[in-house]
Amino acid sequence: MKRGILFALALLLCGGIACAPRKTRYSETRYDLFDTVTVLTGYAESEAAFSETANRVFEELAAYHALFDIYHDAERNNLKTVNDCAGGDPVPVDPAIIDLLLLGREVDALTGHRVNITLGAVLALWHDARTEALEHPESAASPSGDALRDAARHTGFDLLLIDEAAGTVRLTDPRARLDVGAIAKGYAAQRVSENLPDGYLLSVGGNVVAKGTKPDGALWSVGIQDPDDAAALLLTVTASDLAIVTSGDYQRVFTADGVRYHHIIDPETNYPAVRWRSVTVLCADSAAADALSTALFLMEREDGEALLKQFGADALWVAPGGERFMTEGFRERIKG
Ligand code: ADP
Ligand code: MG
Repeated sequence: MKRGILFALALLLCGGIACAPRKTRYSETRYDLFDTVTVLTGYAESEAAFSETANRVFEELAAYHALFDIYHDAERNNLKTVNDCAGGDPVPVDPAIIDLLLLGREVDALTGHRVNITLGAVLALWHDARTEALEHPESAASPSGDALRDAARHTGFDLLLIDEAAGTVRLTDPRARLDVGAIAKGYAAQRVSENLPDGYLLSVGGNVVAKGTKPDGALWSVGIQDPDDAAALLLTVTASDLAIVTSGDYQRVFTADGVRYHHIIDPETNYPAVRWRSVTVLCADSAAADALSTALFLMEREDGEALLKQFGADALWVAPGGERFMTEGFRERIKG
């Protein structure tokens, strides 16, 4: 009798597998979103089914990019509009902007003002210096300490008025600027991934979200870049329903007078942070992972560990000498 039931069960299971439509792996890459490379990989029943998902994902990401862009105007008010109107009237904005800025305010408070989206005036000096340096390497220069200190006087959340009820935002200081580079990609990846089916992997410039597993139940493998070699991996982690985000000193760099400058600025010095080569964060939520990776890059390890605990997140730190530290949860996810 028992054997009969088992046999029937086995038949049912095999039948189920035999009938399940075979899924094929597809991938699409885009270069026009968030000034970075975006890759969507996923398993779908047909190329048409994958394309439908991919089109939706890229459309949603493009909409977030347009809203959070501080360099280009968009059809609707975006963060460039908010920056352009600094010192002027409140700017009516899309609810996603309000949502992102509220997240930014929370992140500022949680990180002791280290990750601060109102640092735009300071970050703009670094952005301009980098753009200049890449165009004219022979005359490359870092911003002067005086200019940075002067810009730093026009930062801080007391200069940003977020009126949730009215749906408006206002920078009260004409020289204040927003820069959401530290959190926007993770936020957008999180929102978009909420509508993604299982069996998809989205990477927005290295802000990776693994949704579910592969169709055969296998975990996704995500490589973590070696800070010293863009073509090499430090290690690979396995993931499902997880965000993997790295902040490193090897991105958006320029050299002036023999010194290499990168893009994560320590608000205590107004200069690129020198504590770590890279920090990788694993967290269920991609927006949190993005904020945390920038935050941990700017913190002592002990402070970072305390912050990770609040989010149930894990991390890998790579020190300037190449030494690596990781939480137990991170170690458990290393492949091989
Ligand atoms: P990436 O943009 O490479 O994913 P991060 O998430 O660490 O890396 O964000 C770095 C970006 O955040 C910078 O390019 C800049 O726009 C912005 N940024 C740099 N330093 C800070 C800071 N201390 N607080 C808030 N934003 C910052
Ligand atoms: Mg970040």
